[in-house]
Amino acid sequence: MPAAVKPSADGRRNLFGMDRVQLRDAFESMGEKPFRADQVMQWIYRRGVGDFEAMSNLSKALRQRLAEHFVVGTPDAVAEQKSKDGTRKWGLRLAGGNAIETVFIPEGDHDAPPVASGQPRYRGTLCVSSQVGCAMDCSFCSTAQQGLNRNMTTAEIIAQVWFAAKQLHCDFQNERDISNVVFMGMGEPLANYGAVLPAIRILLDDFGFGLSKRRVTVSTSGLIPFMDRLREDVDTALAVSLHAPVDELRNTLVPINRKYPIRDLMEACRRYTAGKDRKSHIVYEYVMLDGVNDQPALARDLAKLLGNMPAKVNLIPWNPFPGAAYRTSRPENVKAFADILRHKGIVTTTRKTRGEDIDAACGQLVGEVQSRQKNRLRGIPVVTQ
Ligand code: SAH
Repeated sequence: MPAAVKPSADGRRNLFGMDRVQLRDAFESMGEKPFRADQVMQWIYRRGVGDFEAMSNLSKALRQRLAEHFVVGTPDAVAEQKSKDGTRKWGLRLAGGNAIETVFIPEGDHDAPPVASGQPRYRGTLCVSSQVGCAMDCSFCSTAQQGLNRNMTTAEIIAQVWFAAKQLHCDFQNERDISNVVFMGMGEPLANYGAVLPAIRILLDDFGFGLSKRRVTVSTSGLIPFMDRLREDVDTALAVSLHAPVDELRNTLVPINRKYPIRDLMEACRRYTAGKDRKSHIVYEYVMLDGVNDQPALARDLAKLLGNMPAKVNLIPWNPFPGAAYRTSRPENVKAFADILRHKGIVTTTRKTRGEDIDAACGQLVGEVQSRQKNRLRGIPVVTQ
């Protein structure tokens, strides 16, 4: 097994932690040509090669220097599970002893031609974690029960993708193997913006994983200042965990709503898509909780709220976990809710629950987190940056 992801006890830096600009700078400060950084990135992300010795277009001297200064450090897997539906989940041990979870969700036929009429398109979605635990304290999410232990580093975030690609025997050149990356694992990505931004850049970079901007999705509970920064810094898809169309209810489900209420959130969403191309929209996630937020009147409120926004709605049947006080909405209520939205012209999908048998579904990711800061946020949530 490869070494755990560390900034490296011996002072060597983990290459997974640097986007192209950062890596070029590091090379320049070592007196190396910046284009060598591009070559190294291509070896790692486009060919899946992490061993400097195998980087044959670099001189022997440079390969040696690289090995002195850098590591390509992937985490140890402490658990691996495979669902009967093909979903895979890995528990990955991080430096300091905690473990986080990463989930791979394949859909459709991998070997089908990319555009085949009448056939479900293949998609391989990797769901990555961005924090060890979470401070947002959403009442229906199992990760929230743990509180926040710490932010993950860029290297730890990117290592999940590389690790999964290796485990899945992906062809690193073929973007169909892992076609989408979503920040929907453990944590609130925008509360760890400083580490998440370079990770997004590596995912999108042609010398990095080379994913297109619509195939990398940041999911947020609604940290408005960082939604604005994200809009400025990089072009990527955004999902917003709405879960209720009225403040009174959203306050109880997503406590950060007390700081960033729905009206302000909607304005931020408008700013996020303003001036982007016609196809840009935000996906609003809406977990379906029986008798709590799934009534037809709320569907009408939601339709009104999103009426003239570039929006899609993704209804997520709630996934239970031990000790939770909710029930999953009845399928007929989910359908009725979706029908109301569609009738009002809002594109609405219902997320198929995947990986249930291995607790890999939304909101079931827990890893092994020693909670340092039991964040039972009853007041103003803690945003760490
Ligand atoms: N912090 C980010 C990422 C969270 S996970 C965010 O809030 O968007 C991705 C989605 O799963 C979020 O919409 C989250 O609200 C939802 N989710 C959390 N727990 C769930 C559960 N038990 N069942 C179904 N969806 C859940």
